[in-house]
Amino acid sequence: MMSTDSAQKNAKNNNLLRVDFHSHSNCSDGHLSPQELIDRASNFQIDQFAITDHDSVRAIAIAKQHISDKNLKLRLISGIELSTLWQNFEIHILGLNIDVDNEELLTLIASQQTCREQRAIAMAEKLAKIGFANCYEDAKALASDDCITRAHFARVLHHRGVVSTMQKAFDKYIGKGQRAYVKPTWCDLETAINVIQQSGGVSIIAHPMKYKLSAKWLKRLIVDFKDANGDGMEVVSGQRNDQQRDTLIAMCREYQLQASVGSDFHFPNRWSDVGKHLAVPDNTPVIWQQWN
Ligand code: AMP
Ligand code: MN
Ligand code: MN
Ligand code: MN
Repeated sequence: MMSTDSAQKNAKNNNLLRVDFHSHSNCSDGHLSPQELIDRASNFQIDQFAITDHDSVRAIAIAKQHISDKNLKLRLISGIELSTLWQNFEIHILGLNIDVDNEELLTLIASQQTCREQRAIAMAEKLAKIGFANCYEDAKALASDDCITRAHFARVLHHRGVVSTMQKAFDKYIGKGQRAYVKPTWCDLETAINVIQQSGGVSIIAHPMKYKLSAKWLKRLIVDFKDANGDGMEVVSGQRNDQQRDTLIAMCREYQLQASVGSDFHFPNRWSDVGKHLAVPDNTPVIWQQWN
């Protein structure tokens, strides 16, 4: 049994590690290959790093091989970001420290990717009706073989000059409630948490402030997540807002969730980068404490 003093010291040391538990490679909608992403994290001297592609674990084996080939000291945490439907909201659940060969996980990934494919075809039909033909083919050309996302459609519309930014593609066409939005058929919250647990991982509510939930609905989500055996919540996700961070840390304490941090890195840009601006105060109950 650890004394309180050394437990606290340990927690402090954990908080001093450079970590980032949320990032995307081009196996989903990131722009860098798994190797480039690892090199970037390694150059920034990140100690522990998770790749969490959307409904895909394809990057993990590639990244592991690269780390071993280059003898890098960065520790890779195997991860995934699962899309779920909860009360009509699309809630993203991260699985960290998962066994990427787990059968249940691979079965869920296959069905999520089928949903992605079907939604992409339906979305392209809606876009065609608006006057934008062949978006599926163009999005598919940008995407990896097995993971097509709305971000790829946003890139297509942006490249074609239909919208001036990718964000505007969501705001005008493919975001929730817009003309080319197709309601996805993701798994439910409980399924995502169960499968992550079966594959030996921990489940984390990704970017809780991104869903634009009222305080009441966010609490409902946390209660349902806790009831389903969820483990933690992201308290910093690229945003640099200390007040939001502290509110989320307080909620972690209230609901006995562990705190995670991640940049949600997709490509190099002015505002965020791997491992940047992710510090949490000493003594925050951090999820990575358990795998040191
Ligand atoms: P999908 O998982 O296929 O629905 O694609 C969603 C991805 O698009 C997210 O993971 C983000 O990387 C990106 N994205 C950018 N802007 C938005 C937005 N306004 N709403 C949802 N997704 C967005
Ligand atoms: Mn994404
Ligand atoms: Mn997400
Ligand atoms: Mn993400």
